[in-house]
Amino acid sequence: MESSSSRSTLTIEIKSFLAVFIIPLLIVLPASFYVAVDGIEASLRSTVNTYSTRVDDIISELHSENKQAMQHPDSCGLIRENLLFESLVREMIIMRDGIAICSSKRGEIDQDLSLLIGKKGAKTGEYLFDIDGDPTQRTIVIVDTIEGDGFTGAFSVVDRNFLLQRLGRIESGRLSYVKVKFGPRVYPANTTFTSDTYHYIHTSKKYGFSMLAEASEDYINDRLLYTATGSVPVSLLISLLIFAANRLLKRRDSLADDLKKGLKRAELYLAYQPIVTSQGHKIGGIEALIRWNHPTLGLVRPDVFIPLAEEQNLIIPLTDYVLQHARYDLASLQPDNDIHLGVNVPPAYLHTSTCVSELKHYKEQFEAIGIKLCIEVTERQVLDKLGRDVLKELRDNGLIISIDDFGTGHTSLSILQDTAFDHLKIDKCFVDTIGLETVNAPVLTTIIELGHKLQVKVVAEGVETAQQAAYLAGFKVQYLQGYHFYKPMDIADLQQVFKDSKLD
Ligand code: C2E
Ligand code: CA
Ligand code: CA
Repeated sequence: MESSSSRSTLTIEIKSFLAVFIIPLLIVLPASFYVAVDGIEASLRSTVNTYSTRVDDIISELHSENKQAMQHPDSCGLIRENLLFESLVREMIIMRDGIAICSSKRGEIDQDLSLLIGKKGAKTGEYLFDIDGDPTQRTIVIVDTIEGDGFTGAFSVVDRNFLLQRLGRIESGRLSYVKVKFGPRVYPANTTFTSDTYHYIHTSKKYGFSMLAEASEDYINDRLLYTATGSVPVSLLISLLIFAANRLLKRRDSLADDLKKGLKRAELYLAYQPIVTSQGHKIGGIEALIRWNHPTLGLVRPDVFIPLAEEQNLIIPLTDYVLQHARYDLASLQPDNDIHLGVNVPPAYLHTSTCVSELKHYKEQFEAIGIKLCIEVTERQVLDKLGRDVLKELRDNGLIISIDDFGTGHTSLSILQDTAFDHLKIDKCFVDTIGLETVNAPVLTTIIELGHKLQVKVVAEGVETAQQAAYLAGFKVQYLQGYHFYKPMDIADLQQVFKDSKLD
Protein backbone atom coordinates (compact mmCIF):
# COMPACT_ATOMS: atom_id res chain seq x y z
CA MET A 1 0.00 0.00 0.00
CA GLU A 2 2.71 2.39 1.15
CA SER A 3 5.02 1.55 -1.76
CA SER A 4 2.27 1.78 -4.37
CA SER A 5 1.31 5.26 -3.17
CA SER A 6 4.92 6.46 -3.16
CA ARG A 7 5.28 5.00 -6.65
CA SER A 8 2.28 6.98 -7.86
CA THR A 9 3.62 10.24 -6.35
CA LEU A 10 6.88 9.53 -8.16
CA THR A 11 5.00 9.07 -11.44
CA ILE A 12 3.20 12.38 -10.90
CA GLU A 13 6.54 14.07 -10.18
CA ILE A 14 8.06 12.61 -13.33
CA LYS A 15 5.02 13.61 -15.34
CA SER A 16 5.05 17.20 -14.14
CA PHE A 17 8.81 17.37 -14.67
CA LEU A 18 8.36 16.13 -18.25
CA ALA A 19 5.50 18.55 -18.81
CA VAL A 20 7.60 21.50 -17.69
CA PHE A 21 10.46 20.54 -19.97
CA ILE A 22 8.70 19.00 -22.93
CA ILE A 23 5.68 21.25 -23.48
CA PRO A 24 7.73 24.40 -24.17
CA LEU A 25 9.95 22.33 -26.48
CA LEU A 26 6.87 21.08 -28.35
CA ILE A 27 5.83 24.68 -28.89
CA VAL A 28 9.22 26.26 -29.52
CA LEU A 29 10.52 23.63 -31.97
CA PRO A 30 7.69 23.94 -34.54
CA ALA A 31 7.82 27.72 -34.09
CA SER A 32 11.55 27.70 -34.83
CA PHE A 33 10.90 25.51 -37.89
CA TYR A 34 8.40 28.08 -39.09
CA VAL A 35 10.93 30.88 -38.51
CA ALA A 36 13.63 28.93 -40.42
CA VAL A 37 11.35 28.30 -43.42
CA ASP A 38 10.26 31.91 -43.39
CA GLY A 39 13.93 32.98 -43.43
CA ILE A 40 14.72 30.67 -46.34
CA GLU A 41 11.75 31.97 -48.33
CA ALA A 42 12.65 35.59 -47.64
CA SER A 43 16.21 35.00 -48.79
CA LEU A 44 14.99 33.28 -52.00
CA ARG A 45 12.56 36.08 -52.67
CA SER A 46 15.18 38.76 -52.37
CA THR A 47 17.71 36.89 -54.60
CA VAL A 48 15.15 36.15 -57.32
CA ASN A 49 13.91 39.74 -57.30
CA THR A 50 17.48 40.99 -57.75
CA TYR A 51 18.22 38.51 -60.56
CA SER A 52 14.93 39.31 -62.35
CA THR A 53 15.68 42.99 -62.26
CA ARG A 54 19.08 42.28 -63.82
CA VAL A 55 17.44 40.33 -66.66
CA ASP A 56 14.84 43.09 -67.10
CA ASP A 57 17.72 45.58 -67.44
CA ILE A 58 19.56 43.40 -69.99
CA ILE A 59 16.41 43.06 -72.08
CA SER A 60 15.53 46.74 -72.09
CA GLU A 61 19.13 47.65 -72.92
CA LEU A 62 19.12 45.29 -75.93
CA HIS A 63 15.73 46.47 -77.17
CA SER A 64 17.14 49.98 -77.31
CA GLU A 65 20.36 48.75 -79.05
CA ASN A 66 18.17 47.01 -81.62
CA LYS A 67 16.09 50.11 -82.22
CA GLN A 68 19.17 52.25 -82.57
CA ALA A 69 20.67 49.88 -85.16
CA MET A 70 17.38 49.71 -87.07
CA GLN A 71 17.56 53.45 -87.69
CA HIS A 72 20.62 52.98 -89.96
CA PRO A 73 20.26 49.44 -91.34
CA ASP A 74 22.71 50.17 -94.17
CA SER A 75 25.58 51.40 -92.05
CA CYS A 76 26.83 47.95 -91.07
CA GLY A 77 30.28 49.34 -90.26
CA LEU A 78 28.80 51.75 -87.77
CA ILE A 79 26.75 49.00 -86.17
CA ARG A 80 29.88 46.86 -85.79
CA GLU A 81 31.77 49.73 -84.30
CA ASN A 82 29.03 50.50 -81.84
CA LEU A 83 28.91 46.95 -80.60
CA LEU A 84 32.65 46.37 -80.52
CA PHE A 85 32.92 46.83 -76.80
CA GLU A 86 29.47 45.58 -75.90
CA SER A 87 30.13 42.43 -73.87
CA LEU A 88 26.45 41.68 -73.49
CA VAL A 89 25.78 40.97 -77.17
CA ARG A 90 27.24 37.97 -78.84
CA GLU A 91 25.89 38.97 -82.23
CA MET A 92 23.43 41.47 -83.62
CA ILE A 93 21.78 40.71 -86.95
CA ILE A 94 19.97 43.23 -89.10
CA MET A 95 17.25 41.72 -91.27
CA ARG A 96 15.54 43.27 -94.24
CA ASP A 97 12.71 41.52 -96.12
CA GLY A 98 13.58 38.22 -94.51
CA ILE A 99 17.29 38.46 -95.42
CA ALA A 100 20.07 39.01 -92.89
CA ILE A 101 22.06 41.89 -94.29
CA CYS A 102 24.44 42.75 -91.49
CA SER A 103 26.04 40.89 -88.59
CA SER A 104 27.91 42.70 -85.87
CA LYS A 105 30.31 39.75 -85.91
CA ARG A 106 30.66 38.99 -89.60
CA GLY A 107 29.98 42.35 -91.28
CA GLU A 108 27.77 42.61 -94.35
CA ILE A 109 26.09 39.29 -95.10
CA ASP A 110 23.36 37.95 -97.30
CA GLN A 111 21.57 35.09 -95.57
CA ASP A 112 18.01 33.90 -96.03
CA LEU A 113 16.27 33.72 -92.67
CA SER A 114 12.93 32.38 -93.84
CA LEU A 115 13.54 28.99 -92.20
CA LEU A 116 14.17 30.66 -88.91
CA ILE A 117 11.33 33.16 -88.91
CA GLY A 118 8.66 31.16 -90.78
CA LYS A 119 5.98 32.42 -93.06
CA LYS A 120 4.54 34.96 -90.67
CA GLY A 121 7.86 36.59 -89.94
CA ALA A 122 9.36 37.49 -86.57
CA LYS A 123 7.64 39.26 -83.68
CA THR A 124 9.07 41.83 -81.30
CA GLY A 125 9.82 40.11 -78.02
CA GLU A 126 12.28 38.02 -76.00
CA TYR A 127 12.98 34.37 -76.72
CA LEU A 128 15.21 31.51 -75.72
CA PHE A 129 17.16 30.37 -78.73
CA ASP A 130 19.47 27.39 -79.28
CA ILE A 131 22.48 28.54 -81.30
CA ASP A 132 23.16 26.11 -84.15
CA GLY A 133 20.19 24.12 -82.86
CA ASP A 134 22.32 23.07 -79.89
CA PRO A 135 20.37 23.19 -76.58
CA THR A 136 23.59 23.47 -74.58
CA GLN A 137 24.13 26.80 -76.34
CA ARG A 138 20.71 28.11 -75.38
CA THR A 139 20.60 31.85 -74.79
CA ILE A 140 18.28 34.85 -74.90
CA VAL A 141 17.50 36.59 -78.18
CA ILE A 142 15.90 40.01 -78.23
CA VAL A 143 13.87 40.69 -81.34
CA ASP A 144 12.60 44.02 -82.62
CA THR A 145 10.72 44.33 -85.90
CA ILE A 146 9.18 47.24 -87.74
CA GLU A 147 5.54 47.63 -86.90
CA GLY A 148 3.43 45.51 -89.28
CA ASP A 149 6.50 43.98 -90.99
CA GLY A 150 7.80 40.80 -89.42
CA PHE A 151 10.55 40.53 -92.02
CA THR A 152 12.48 43.69 -91.25
CA GLY A 153 14.15 44.32 -87.92
CA ALA A 154 17.06 43.45 -85.61
CA PHE A 155 18.02 40.43 -83.46
CA SER A 156 20.39 40.64 -80.53
CA VAL A 157 21.76 37.35 -79.28
CA VAL A 158 22.81 37.63 -75.66
CA ASP A 159 26.30 36.41 -74.94
CA ARG A 160 25.94 33.10 -73.11
CA ASN A 161 28.98 33.57 -71.00
CA PHE A 162 27.76 36.94 -69.95
CA LEU A 163 24.39 35.49 -69.06
CA LEU A 164 26.05 32.73 -67.06
CA GLN A 165 28.12 35.30 -65.31
CA ARG A 166 25.06 37.33 -64.44
CA LEU A 167 22.84 34.42 -63.48
CA GLY A 168 24.22 30.96 -63.88
CA ARG A 169 27.14 31.25 -61.49
CA ILE A 170 25.17 31.08 -58.31
CA GLU A 171 26.58 33.83 -56.21
CA SER A 172 25.66 32.37 -52.90
CA GLY A 173 25.73 28.86 -51.62
CA ARG A 174 22.12 29.44 -50.66
CA LEU A 175 20.80 28.41 -54.08
CA SER A 176 21.02 25.10 -55.89
CA TYR A 177 19.98 26.72 -59.18
CA VAL A 178 18.21 29.56 -60.92
CA LYS A 179 16.05 28.86 -64.00
CA VAL A 180 14.44 31.26 -66.46
CA LYS A 181 11.46 30.48 -68.63
CA PHE A 182 10.53 32.36 -71.82
CA GLY A 183 7.35 31.02 -73.37
CA PRO A 184 7.59 27.24 -73.38
CA ARG A 185 11.41 27.15 -73.18
CA VAL A 186 13.48 26.89 -70.06
CA TYR A 187 17.06 27.97 -69.52
CA PRO A 188 19.21 25.97 -68.85
CA ALA A 189 17.96 23.55 -71.53
CA ASN A 190 16.88 20.01 -70.67
CA THR A 191 15.46 20.98 -67.28
CA THR A 192 11.91 21.47 -66.14
CA PHE A 193 10.62 24.63 -64.53
CA THR A 194 9.75 22.89 -61.27
CA SER A 195 11.29 22.18 -57.89
CA ASP A 196 10.42 19.69 -55.19
CA THR A 197 11.93 21.63 -52.31
CA TYR A 198 11.91 25.24 -51.07
CA HIS A 199 11.86 27.59 -54.08
CA TYR A 200 10.47 30.88 -55.27
CA ILE A 201 9.07 31.88 -58.67
CA HIS A 202 8.93 35.46 -59.87
CA THR A 203 7.26 36.59 -63.09
CA SER A 204 8.63 39.73 -64.68
CA LYS A 205 6.17 42.57 -64.85
CA LYS A 206 7.99 44.16 -67.80
CA TYR A 207 8.87 41.21 -70.05
CA GLY A 208 7.58 37.76 -70.87
CA PHE A 209 9.70 35.60 -68.55
CA SER A 210 9.55 33.93 -65.16
CA MET A 211 12.41 33.01 -62.88
CA LEU A 212 12.68 30.18 -60.39
CA ALA A 213 15.30 29.83 -57.66
CA GLU A 214 15.66 26.75 -55.52
CA ALA A 215 17.27 26.75 -52.07
CA SER A 216 20.29 24.50 -51.76
CA GLU A 217 20.10 21.49 -49.51
CA ASP A 218 23.07 22.72 -47.47
CA TYR A 219 21.43 26.06 -46.87
CA ILE A 220 18.10 24.47 -45.86
CA ASN A 221 19.84 22.10 -43.46
CA ASP A 222 21.97 24.92 -42.06
CA ARG A 223 18.98 27.12 -41.35
CA LEU A 224 16.92 24.33 -39.81
CA LEU A 225 19.79 23.18 -37.64
CA TYR A 226 20.69 26.71 -36.62
CA THR A 227 17.19 27.67 -35.48
CA ALA A 228 16.56 24.26 -33.91
CA THR A 229 19.71 24.51 -31.78
CA GLY A 230 18.79 28.09 -30.94
CA SER A 231 15.34 27.00 -29.83
CA VAL A 232 16.67 24.55 -27.25
CA PRO A 233 18.08 27.20 -24.88
CA VAL A 234 14.99 29.36 -25.44
CA SER A 235 12.70 26.50 -24.54
CA LEU A 236 14.91 25.61 -21.59
CA LEU A 237 14.67 29.19 -20.35
CA ILE A 238 10.88 29.09 -20.60
CA SER A 239 10.92 25.76 -18.73
CA LEU A 240 13.03 27.26 -16.00
CA LEU A 241 10.72 30.27 -15.67
CA ILE A 242 7.65 28.03 -15.44
CA PHE A 243 9.46 25.82 -12.96
CA ALA A 244 10.51 28.78 -10.79
CA ALA A 245 7.05 30.38 -10.91
CA ASN A 246 5.51 27.06 -9.99
CA ARG A 247 7.87 26.62 -7.07
CA LEU A 248 7.21 30.16 -5.86
CA LEU A 249 3.45 29.67 -6.01
CA LYS A 250 3.73 26.34 -4.21
CA ARG A 251 5.95 27.88 -1.56
CA ARG A 252 3.49 30.78 -1.07
CA ASP A 253 0.66 28.29 -0.84
CA SER A 254 2.48 26.20 1.68
CA LEU A 255 3.53 29.29 3.66
CA ALA A 256 -0.15 30.30 3.85
CA ASP A 257 -0.97 26.78 5.05
CA ASP A 258 1.82 27.01 7.59
CA LEU A 259 0.47 30.34 8.82
CA LYS A 260 -2.97 28.80 9.40
CA LYS A 261 -1.37 25.98 11.40
CA GLY A 262 0.98 28.43 13.13
CA LEU A 263 -1.96 30.43 14.48
CA LYS A 264 -3.45 27.21 15.87
CA ARG A 265 -0.17 25.96 17.29
CA ALA A 266 0.69 29.33 18.80
CA GLU A 267 3.93 29.66 16.85
CA LEU A 268 3.26 33.40 16.71
CA TYR A 269 4.09 35.66 19.60
CA LEU A 270 4.16 39.36 20.31
CA ALA A 271 7.01 41.76 20.64
CA TYR A 272 6.34 45.04 22.42
CA GLN A 273 7.98 48.35 21.66
CA PRO A 274 7.59 51.04 24.31
CA ILE A 275 6.65 54.52 23.09
CA VAL A 276 7.99 57.44 25.14
CA THR A 277 6.89 61.01 25.75
CA SER A 278 9.14 63.50 24.01
CA GLN A 279 9.40 65.63 27.16
CA GLY A 280 10.92 63.48 29.89
CA HIS A 281 11.11 60.26 27.89
CA LYS A 282 8.56 58.48 30.11
CA ILE A 283 6.80 55.43 28.72
CA GLY A 284 3.42 56.60 27.46
CA GLY A 285 2.48 53.67 25.30
CA ILE A 286 3.44 50.37 23.75
CA GLU A 287 3.00 48.99 20.26
CA ALA A 288 2.26 45.27 19.88
CA LEU A 289 4.21 43.81 16.94
CA ILE A 290 3.60 40.28 15.84
CA ARG A 291 6.39 37.75 15.31
CA TRP A 292 6.31 34.29 13.76
CA ASN A 293 8.71 31.61 14.75
CA HIS A 294 8.29 29.22 11.84
CA PRO A 295 9.22 25.60 12.74
CA THR A 296 11.67 25.25 9.81
CA LEU A 297 12.22 28.73 8.38
CA GLY A 298 12.90 30.36 11.72
CA LEU A 299 11.81 33.94 12.32
CA VAL A 300 9.62 35.21 9.46
CA ARG A 301 9.29 39.00 9.13
CA PRO A 302 5.80 40.51 9.47
CA ASP A 303 6.39 42.36 6.18
CA VAL A 304 6.31 38.89 4.57
CA PHE A 305 3.41 37.21 6.34
CA ILE A 306 1.08 40.15 7.02
CA PRO A 307 0.39 40.72 3.28
CA LEU A 308 0.02 36.94 2.92
CA ALA A 309 -2.46 36.86 5.81
CA GLU A 310 -4.41 39.67 4.15
CA GLU A 311 -4.50 37.79 0.85
CA GLN A 312 -5.57 34.52 2.45
CA ASN A 313 -8.31 35.95 4.69
CA LEU A 314 -6.28 35.21 7.77
CA ILE A 315 -5.98 38.79 8.96
CA ILE A 316 -9.13 38.59 11.10
CA PRO A 317 -8.04 35.53 13.12
CA LEU A 318 -4.55 37.04 13.25
CA THR A 319 -5.81 40.34 14.71
CA ASP A 320 -7.93 38.43 17.25
CA TYR A 321 -4.82 36.42 18.10
CA VAL A 322 -2.85 39.64 18.77
CA LEU A 323 -5.61 41.10 20.97
CA GLN A 324 -6.00 37.90 22.99
CA HIS A 325 -2.29 37.33 23.49
CA ALA A 326 -1.61 40.96 24.36
CA ARG A 327 -4.37 40.88 26.98
CA TYR A 328 -2.86 37.73 28.44
CA ASP A 329 0.78 38.97 28.28
CA LEU A 330 0.09 42.38 29.80
CA ALA A 331 -2.22 41.23 32.61
CA SER A 332 0.48 41.65 35.25
CA LEU A 333 2.20 44.78 33.88
CA GLN A 334 0.54 47.19 36.33
CA PRO A 335 1.63 50.49 34.81
CA ASP A 336 1.80 53.49 37.19
CA ASN A 337 0.40 55.99 34.80
CA ASP A 338 -1.96 55.90 31.84
CA ILE A 339 -0.48 54.10 28.91
CA HIS A 340 -1.94 53.02 25.59
CA LEU A 341 -1.42 49.83 23.68
CA GLY A 342 -1.23 50.24 19.90
CA VAL A 343 -2.52 47.29 17.89
CA ASN A 344 -2.22 47.27 14.11
CA VAL A 345 -5.66 46.76 12.59
CA PRO A 346 -6.08 46.56 8.83
CA PRO A 347 -9.25 47.96 7.13
CA ALA A 348 -10.45 44.40 6.36
CA TYR A 349 -10.89 43.82 10.08
CA LEU A 350 -13.05 46.92 10.37
CA HIS A 351 -15.42 45.39 7.83
CA THR A 352 -16.39 42.41 9.99
CA SER A 353 -19.85 42.64 11.55
CA THR A 354 -18.59 41.78 15.05
CA CYS A 355 -15.67 44.20 14.98
CA VAL A 356 -17.24 46.96 17.09
CA SER A 357 -18.56 44.62 19.79
CA GLU A 358 -15.29 42.66 19.89
CA LEU A 359 -13.11 45.75 20.18
CA LYS A 360 -15.41 47.27 22.79
CA HIS A 361 -15.05 44.08 24.79
CA TYR A 362 -11.24 44.18 24.51
CA LYS A 363 -11.20 47.88 25.36
CA GLU A 364 -12.89 47.06 28.68
CA GLN A 365 -10.60 44.11 29.30
CA PHE A 366 -7.52 46.30 28.81
CA GLU A 367 -9.01 49.11 30.84
CA ALA A 368 -9.26 46.68 33.74
CA ILE A 369 -5.43 46.37 33.69
CA GLY A 370 -4.82 50.09 33.32
CA ILE A 371 -4.22 50.17 29.53
CA LYS A 372 -6.06 52.16 26.88
CA LEU A 373 -6.59 50.30 23.64
CA CYS A 374 -5.38 52.16 20.56
CA ILE A 375 -6.25 51.04 17.02
CA GLU A 376 -3.46 51.77 14.52
CA VAL A 377 -4.97 51.95 11.04
CA THR A 378 -2.48 52.14 8.24
CA GLU A 379 -3.01 54.90 5.76
CA ARG A 380 -1.48 52.85 2.93
CA GLN A 381 -4.60 50.77 2.50
CA VAL A 382 -7.86 52.25 1.32
CA LEU A 383 -10.11 53.26 4.15
CA ASP A 384 -13.65 53.35 2.76
CA LYS A 385 -16.81 54.91 4.15
CA LEU A 386 -17.76 51.80 6.13
CA GLY A 387 -14.28 51.68 7.70
CA ARG A 388 -14.44 55.35 8.64
CA ASP A 389 -17.91 54.91 10.19
CA VAL A 390 -16.63 51.99 12.27
CA LEU A 391 -13.65 54.06 13.43
CA LYS A 392 -16.03 56.82 14.50
CA GLU A 393 -18.14 54.36 16.48
CA LEU A 394 -15.05 52.92 18.14
CA ARG A 395 -13.83 56.38 19.02
CA ASP A 396 -17.23 57.26 20.46
CA ASN A 397 -16.83 54.15 22.61
CA GLY A 398 -13.53 55.36 24.05
CA LEU A 399 -10.95 53.62 21.86
CA ILE A 400 -7.96 55.67 20.69
CA ILE A 401 -7.73 55.89 16.90
CA SER A 402 -4.27 56.32 15.38
CA ILE A 403 -3.51 56.91 11.69
CA ASP A 404 -0.38 54.84 10.98
CA ASP A 405 2.32 55.42 8.35
CA PHE A 406 0.92 58.87 7.73
CA GLY A 407 2.16 60.45 4.49
CA THR A 408 3.10 57.21 2.75
CA GLY A 409 -0.36 56.47 1.34
CA HIS A 410 -2.37 58.31 -1.23
CA THR A 411 -5.47 59.30 0.71
CA SER A 412 -3.78 61.39 3.38
CA LEU A 413 -5.69 64.64 3.25
CA SER A 414 -9.17 63.31 2.52
CA ILE A 415 -8.72 60.86 5.41
CA LEU A 416 -7.97 63.71 7.76
CA GLN A 417 -11.15 65.45 6.72
CA ASP A 418 -13.51 62.50 7.03
CA THR A 419 -12.04 60.47 9.86
CA ALA A 420 -12.26 61.07 13.54
CA PHE A 421 -8.92 60.17 15.13
CA ASP A 422 -6.60 60.94 18.04
CA HIS A 423 -3.03 60.12 16.97
CA LEU A 424 -1.10 60.85 13.83
CA LYS A 425 1.84 58.45 13.41
CA ILE A 426 4.63 59.76 11.24
CA ASP A 427 6.36 56.99 9.29
CA LYS A 428 10.04 56.28 9.84
CA CYS A 429 10.89 57.40 6.29
CA PHE A 430 10.14 61.03 7.25
CA VAL A 431 12.02 60.81 10.56
CA ASP A 432 15.00 59.56 8.54
CA THR A 433 15.16 62.92 6.74
CA ILE A 434 16.10 64.83 9.91
CA GLY A 435 19.50 66.44 9.39
CA LEU A 436 19.48 65.61 5.67
CA GLU A 437 18.92 68.05 2.85
CA THR A 438 16.38 65.94 0.96
CA VAL A 439 13.22 66.89 -0.92
CA ASN A 440 11.23 65.05 1.75
CA ALA A 441 12.72 67.05 4.62
CA PRO A 442 10.11 69.89 4.56
CA VAL A 443 7.34 67.26 4.48
CA LEU A 444 8.14 66.19 8.05
CA THR A 445 7.61 69.62 9.59
CA THR A 446 4.48 70.10 7.47
CA ILE A 447 2.99 66.85 8.82
CA ILE A 448 3.84 67.84 12.38
CA GLU A 449 2.21 71.26 11.95
CA LEU A 450 -0.83 69.62 10.42
CA GLY A 451 -1.15 67.34 13.47
CA HIS A 452 -0.97 70.33 15.80
CA LYS A 453 -3.59 72.23 13.83
CA LEU A 454 -5.91 69.23 13.95
CA GLN A 455 -5.28 69.07 17.70
CA VAL A 456 -4.28 65.40 17.63
CA LYS A 457 -1.23 63.84 19.30
CA VAL A 458 1.71 63.34 16.96
CA VAL A 459 3.77 60.15 17.28
CA ALA A 460 7.10 59.80 15.47
CA GLU A 461 8.21 56.28 14.59
CA GLY A 462 11.73 54.98 13.88
CA VAL A 463 13.64 57.45 16.07
CA GLU A 464 17.20 56.15 16.05
CA THR A 465 19.34 59.06 17.25
CA ALA A 466 19.42 61.64 20.03
CA GLN A 467 19.55 64.32 17.33
CA GLN A 468 16.26 63.10 15.85
CA ALA A 469 14.67 62.90 19.31
CA ALA A 470 15.74 66.47 20.14
CA TYR A 471 14.56 67.79 16.79
CA LEU A 472 11.12 66.16 17.13
CA ALA A 473 10.78 67.34 20.75
CA GLY A 474 11.64 70.85 19.52
CA PHE A 475 8.69 70.65 17.14
CA LYS A 476 6.44 69.52 20.01
CA VAL A 477 5.89 65.99 18.73
CA GLN A 478 4.25 64.37 21.77
CA TYR A 479 5.43 60.73 21.47
CA LEU A 480 8.58 59.08 20.18
CA GLN A 481 9.08 55.43 19.22
CA GLY A 482 12.33 53.95 18.01
CA TYR A 483 15.52 52.02 18.59
CA HIS A 484 17.08 55.07 20.26
CA PHE A 485 14.77 54.39 23.21
CA TYR A 486 13.64 50.78 22.96
CA LYS A 487 13.70 48.06 20.37
CA PRO A 488 10.72 45.69 20.16
CA MET A 489 11.19 43.16 22.99
CA ASP A 490 9.50 40.06 24.34
CA ILE A 491 7.06 40.24 27.26
CA ALA A 492 9.66 39.22 29.85
CA ASP A 493 11.93 42.12 28.86
CA LEU A 494 8.98 44.49 28.78
CA GLN A 495 8.04 43.51 32.33
CA GLN A 496 11.62 44.16 33.38
CA VAL A 497 11.57 47.61 31.74
CA PHE A 498 8.38 48.46 33.64
CA LYS A 499 9.85 47.19 36.94
CA ASP A 500 12.98 49.29 36.43
CA SER A 501 10.97 52.38 35.59
CA LYS A 502 9.10 52.07 38.87
CA LEU A 503 12.41 52.18 40.75
CA ASP A 504 13.40 55.46 39.00
P1 C2E B 1 4.52 49.54 11.53
O1 C2E B 1 3.13 49.46 12.07
O2 C2E B 1 4.91 50.82 10.88
O3 C2E B 1 5.48 49.17 12.70
C1 C2E B 1 6.69 49.81 12.96
C2 C2E B 1 7.84 49.00 12.47
O4 C2E B 1 9.02 49.75 12.58
C3 C2E B 1 8.07 47.73 13.27
O5 C2E B 1 8.62 46.74 12.38
C4 C2E B 1 9.15 48.18 14.25
O6 C2E B 1 9.90 47.09 14.76
C5 C2E B 1 9.97 49.06 13.38
N1 C2E B 1 10.74 50.06 14.12
C6 C2E B 1 10.39 50.74 15.24
N2 C2E B 1 11.37 51.59 15.61
C7 C2E B 1 12.36 51.45 14.70
C8 C2E B 1 13.65 52.05 14.54
O7 C2E B 1 14.09 52.92 15.32
N3 C2E B 1 14.40 51.66 13.48
C9 C2E B 1 13.95 50.72 12.61
N4 C2E B 1 14.73 50.37 11.58
N5 C2E B 1 12.74 50.13 12.72
C10 C2E B 1 11.96 50.50 13.77
P2 C2E B 1 8.04 45.29 12.36
O8 C2E B 1 7.77 44.82 13.73
O9 C2E B 1 8.96 44.50 11.50
O10 C2E B 1 6.67 45.46 11.63
C11 C2E B 1 6.59 45.81 10.31
C12 C2E B 1 5.20 46.07 9.90
O11 C2E B 1 4.41 44.88 9.98
C13 C2E B 1 4.47 47.05 10.81
O12 C2E B 1 4.78 48.36 10.45
C14 C2E B 1 3.03 46.70 10.57
O13 C2E B 1 2.56 47.31 9.38
C15 C2E B 1 3.09 45.19 10.32
N6 C2E B 1 2.74 44.51 11.57
C16 C2E B 1 3.52 44.20 12.63
N7 C2E B 1 2.78 43.58 13.57
C17 C2E B 1 1.51 43.54 13.13
C18 C2E B 1 0.28 43.02 13.64
O14 C2E B 1 0.19 42.52 14.77
N8 C2E B 1 -0.84 43.12 12.87
C19 C2E B 1 -0.81 43.70 11.64
N9 C2E B 1 -1.93 43.77 10.94
N10 C2E B 1 0.34 44.21 11.11
C20 C2E B 1 1.48 44.12 11.86
CA1 CA C 1 1.97 50.46 13.57
CA1 CA D 1 5.66 52.52 9.66
